[in-house]
Amino acid sequence: MTANLFDILTRSITDPGATAIETLSGDRITYADLVRRTGQMANALATLGLAPGDRVAVQVEKSVEAIILYLATVRAGGVFLPLNTGYTAAEIDYFIGDAEPALFVCDPARAPELAAAAKRAGARMMTLDAQGSGTLTEAAAAAPADFATVPRAADDLAALLYTSGTTGRSKGAMLTHGNLVSNALALREAWRYTARDVLIHALPIFHTHGLFVATNITLFSGASMVFLPKFDIDRIFELMTRATVLMGVPTFYTRLLQDDMLNAETTANMRLFVSGSAPLLAETHREWRARTGHAILERYGMTETNMNTSNPYAGERVAGTVGLPLPGTEVIVTDPETGAELPRGEIGMIEVRGPNVFKGYWRMPEKTAAELRANGFFITGDLGRIDERGYVHIVGRGKDLIITGGYNVYPKEVEAEIDEIPGVLESAVIGLPHKDFGEAVTAVVVPTGSAVLTEAAIIQALETRLARFKQPKSVIFVEELPRNTMGKVQKNLLRDRFLQQPAT
Ligand code: AMP
Repeated sequence: MTANLFDILTRSITDPGATAIETLSGDRITYADLVRRTGQMANALATLGLAPGDRVAVQVEKSVEAIILYLATVRAGGVFLPLNTGYTAAEIDYFIGDAEPALFVCDPARAPELAAAAKRAGARMMTLDAQGSGTLTEAAAAAPADFATVPRAADDLAALLYTSGTTGRSKGAMLTHGNLVSNALALREAWRYTARDVLIHALPIFHTHGLFVATNITLFSGASMVFLPKFDIDRIFELMTRATVLMGVPTFYTRLLQDDMLNAETTANMRLFVSGSAPLLAETHREWRARTGHAILERYGMTETNMNTSNPYAGERVAGTVGLPLPGTEVIVTDPETGAELPRGEIGMIEVRGPNVFKGYWRMPEKTAAELRANGFFITGDLGRIDERGYVHIVGRGKDLIITGGYNVYPKEVEAEIDEIPGVLESAVIGLPHKDFGEAVTAVVVPTGSAVLTEAAIIQALETRLARFKQPKSVIFVEELPRNTMGKVQKNLLRDRFLQQPAT
């Protein structure tokens, strides 16, 4: 039997007349529409020369057509390659030069600027704009709806997603039909998703969170989602009266908390708030619960592995943890030097194994061998520990670990203490070069503005709370922390910016 994601998805449709996607302009796309329009698009792709295994690189705004393009690519046996809408022409040149897609779909407004890159990569260029119009839509509109889905094995590629590349060059993570299907089914079960669910979809669809977690679970459940082009507080409050689920990055939640509208009544219809892609502060979790009565469900995953862990739906959702391994996925913590598994409670490298784990990096066998062990465990690059109840705690990225005077300092521990100080909104702790210590613990702090904060006061407040070697040697005040589109603090930018700062 074929393991094509599209076949499995269509087999789970029980009501073809149910709404799959709704847009703010009032369009409703039923499951029957989705199958028909995906068939047209798959025929158009085949006519344009797409053969099974070929990549379709896509840099477009969020639209229903973009989702149809994703499903049609997979249905036609192709490999979907979504690209961040913020990438410049030079970045696109690298990605499509590396992936060598048969087709490159971009916004018509950017086509002149990107044509040369497409030509160099040997890709045929088509267009699709934010409203869903363009040469690609025209080709699909003229095509028949019947399309025999190309049979695929579970191990065949369905998508190629480039990592966000906060260190070094982005790598293309090869995701198979089996990876995507198994994770969608595991999450559907874990989060008790049903056809009655209505998701507020305010995430971008070029990333694993918005494309796979949000979209795949919804479609595999026969549920519906309302597409917002971007995070929009007013719309979210309007939709919460009839929606049931919100999936977001932590900044969604901190921003919603700043709005007086947020309370138990305005969230009464909602059954689930999910957070991921970056750490949710324990304080945000507690505040949200106090204001709304809902415990945000935090989960942990990444481009290469889909989702690995989740706080339980029915059990305790523990603030500051990413929960328990999903069924079928194993999580262990190992010594970063030797790779040996560490006893429970010790901090080390998080490694994961399971049907969710990718096949390797595109055309990078050495990188694949360095991060994906022969026994199937993927070395995530995240440092963490597993507590006595089995909950996974993340303490930071391996590359963010600070080594000062031979001691390891986990930034998150220091950040948690600084964030408790009155007048601190948030903080990021980084290591800067230091002549005696190798690296100096440096705190970058965003004040709330409600109290006068000084470097000395912050260092003093930490004196009794942290061992001396963990205390910041200097404190830098900033108005805001640099974040990428998924809400991750870009510590590499902070390190570059403050490299010249004298650390005393
Ligand atoms: P990406 O591949 O862009 O999805 O980034 C994956 C990385 O995001 C992970 O390796 C973690 O460092 C981080 N991440 C994702 N979810 C969480 C979470 N719930 N808490 C802390 N970090 C997270």
